[in-house]
Amino acid sequence: MLDVLRRIIQAVDNAEDLDEALGIIVSRVREAMAVDVCSVYLRAGARSDYVLMATEGLRPESVGAVRLGHDEGLVGLVGTRQEPVNLDEASAHPGYRYFPETGEEHYNAFLGVPIIHYRRPLGVLVVQQGAHRRFSEDEVAFLFTAAAQLAGAIIHAAHSGEVDTLAEPPGQGMGFLTGTRGATGVAVGTIVPMVPGADLASVQDRPTTDPEGEKAALHLAIQEVREELRAGRDRFKDALFDDAEVLFDAYRMMLDSASLVRETEQRIDGGLWAPAALRHTIAAHARVFDDMEDEYLRARGEDLRDVGRLILRHLLRQEGREAVEYPEGTVLVGESITVAHLAEAPLDRIVGVACTTGSAMSHVAVLATSLGIPAVMGLGDLPLGRLEGRTIVVDGYRGRVCIDPVEAVRDEYLRLQAEDQELASGLGELRDLPAATTDGHRVTLQVNTGLLADITPAQDSGGEGVGLYRTEFPFMVRQQFPGEDEQYRIYLDVLASFAPLPVTMRTLDVGGDKTLPYFPIREENPFLGWRGIRITLDHPEVFLGQIRSMLRANAGLDNLRILLPMVSRLEEVDEASALIDQACRELAEEGRNGRRPPVGVMVEVPALVYQAEALARRVDFLSVGTNDLTQYLLAVDRNNARVAGLYDNLHPAVLRALRDIVQGARHHGRPVSVCGEMAGDPAAAILLVALGIDALSMSASALPRIKWVIRSISLERARELLIRAMAMESPGAIRILLNEELVGLGLGGLVRAGKE
Ligand code: PEP
Ligand code: MG
Repeated sequence: MLDVLRRIIQAVDNAEDLDEALGIIVSRVREAMAVDVCSVYLRAGARSDYVLMATEGLRPESVGAVRLGHDEGLVGLVGTRQEPVNLDEASAHPGYRYFPETGEEHYNAFLGVPIIHYRRPLGVLVVQQGAHRRFSEDEVAFLFTAAAQLAGAIIHAAHSGEVDTLAEPPGQGMGFLTGTRGATGVAVGTIVPMVPGADLASVQDRPTTDPEGEKAALHLAIQEVREELRAGRDRFKDALFDDAEVLFDAYRMMLDSASLVRETEQRIDGGLWAPAALRHTIAAHARVFDDMEDEYLRARGEDLRDVGRLILRHLLRQEGREAVEYPEGTVLVGESITVAHLAEAPLDRIVGVACTTGSAMSHVAVLATSLGIPAVMGLGDLPLGRLEGRTIVVDGYRGRVCIDPVEAVRDEYLRLQAEDQELASGLGELRDLPAATTDGHRVTLQVNTGLLADITPAQDSGGEGVGLYRTEFPFMVRQQFPGEDEQYRIYLDVLASFAPLPVTMRTLDVGGDKTLPYFPIREENPFLGWRGIRITLDHPEVFLGQIRSMLRANAGLDNLRILLPMVSRLEEVDEASALIDQACRELAEEGRNGRRPPVGVMVEVPALVYQAEALARRVDFLSVGTNDLTQYLLAVDRNNARVAGLYDNLHPAVLRALRDIVQGARHHGRPVSVCGEMAGDPAAAILLVALGIDALSMSASALPRIKWVIRSISLERARELLIRAMAMESPGAIRILLNEELVGLGLGGLVRAGKE
């Protein structure tokens, strides 16, 4: 049965749109369960009614015509109870409703199971049979499993067709797709899809005015692939890999298939450009294989898609096809937009980013935050092939987007966008004013950087130095470990740009989700694995090289501070400290700068919260990495869109941890800063100030807002709020308390930046 289910899901996954997907579900499930009827009801429309969307067994004219309120009939009962309903005589049940257009009076046995996607009820899957009988436990289990697995595929198919076919969960409405917050702000713009190489699924449906030219391009691409395959086959012939030879031959046969070429040409004649015509033809052919019983033949569907990708690669390589045009107000949309995509694009035209994967902690989101570009991450499936040129609203505050917004939504977001711009230009006046509360308590505000692109905004922000320079970013954009001289030049650039203000350079923090292409680490559980200081202590040559480069760059500037990431044991601090001493000694012996700079530790592992005092005794300062500290305290993966709703810096446990860290540091008179995203959250900043955090380090774009908050409130009032927040038990209640305060202070414009 598992195999049957897997094949149904694969076929549904490859469907072009929702109608096709539902058609596959009802016919395959009916066949697999040997029942008379299988139907899918989906919730749709403003009232989330159940609409019969597809059926095998009921009269076809009832599709779209049968509509039930959300608690009406047996379908409504399944939806309300969120459990299977298994009846031997459906019409005898008090909840039964009869629809003459279905012809369902012939069927007595009824089994309905809910289709739920992450708490969101999508619809109900129903099977019916003429006989009076209850469905067996195995049958219930099969349908139940099918519905659970099909929920994701239904969402995918719905997005592949019309984005807003399905009713949104209550409160979302208006066709918004929900992801997670990447970078705050809102934007309305035009979609430019970022296609990862030759990916058939994301080829755009563009029209052509030159079918003959498109057909010539197709033939040329096929010819090139043919030659490529011949060359590949010859290489493998010498190596005697029989299987590979057979595979190459099979690919060649597919390539030579007359129907593949003919059907693609027909689609071109119908007005499509060659890549999209190819995508449709390959999809149609591959689906025939997907439906086959025989496993070997089914695998040929994948081969066909491979051949399609090869042709596409050659097609796109032909002159001019790959050039991306960026209109004014571009929103980059893609599966995994990279730092390189952003770096290549003309930044003055990019107003937003929307990504189907990743989270606020992904590098592209961190860079977007630095550049002040709103971003939404982790959107799941998007119909990438049908997005080019469409209008999109990016709501980075709430982590959602709306494609083809209705006029009212678009206008509302244009208004918010203008309001944000007005706010930002107004805040520019605060640039040279100190960050002090109304009763004179001074807080240091610094910036986080790591990429050359964000140094200028960081310098212009009025920040008092760099609270966190992530050294792994320059390591990531290279092909090998940068040498000591290369690192020296990078660090000198940064230190000199900010001197005499301090620059806190964190030693290499790779591992977790940050890997180097030339130093792959494969682990089951990377966030609990070989990460940060654990790696650099195991590779003292890497650590020493980095420290030496930093110390050399610091000669004559003297504004360097060193920060150690991912420390979980005090011995690690002692060992790192000894290596720093060694580097200082060696440099002094070489007649270079050997002065030991201030050394601090990131508090981002809960274990250190309990050893904060002993830690403070060893170092010059502490910096709380709330991004990781929250992830580890709450056991919520910071990159996982599924649990993003559980990730909250205002969780009472996080606030208590911060309180204890400050207490431990005070024992030895050490300053404490916060350099996670929490520092740039206006509501959280009030509590951080009250907790006695000395410095807040954040993206340059967040800094003016945080300065505005600090300059608007007294320390006394912030402390009162802290006492009240500490007595609360849920992050949501704390957020409401702080947002109300911001509104009361006349800073309502910042509340949007808070979490809903
Ligand atoms: C943190 O963990 O809060 C932090 C600032 O470091 P990163 O986001 O680079 O892990
Ligand atoms: Mg961290």
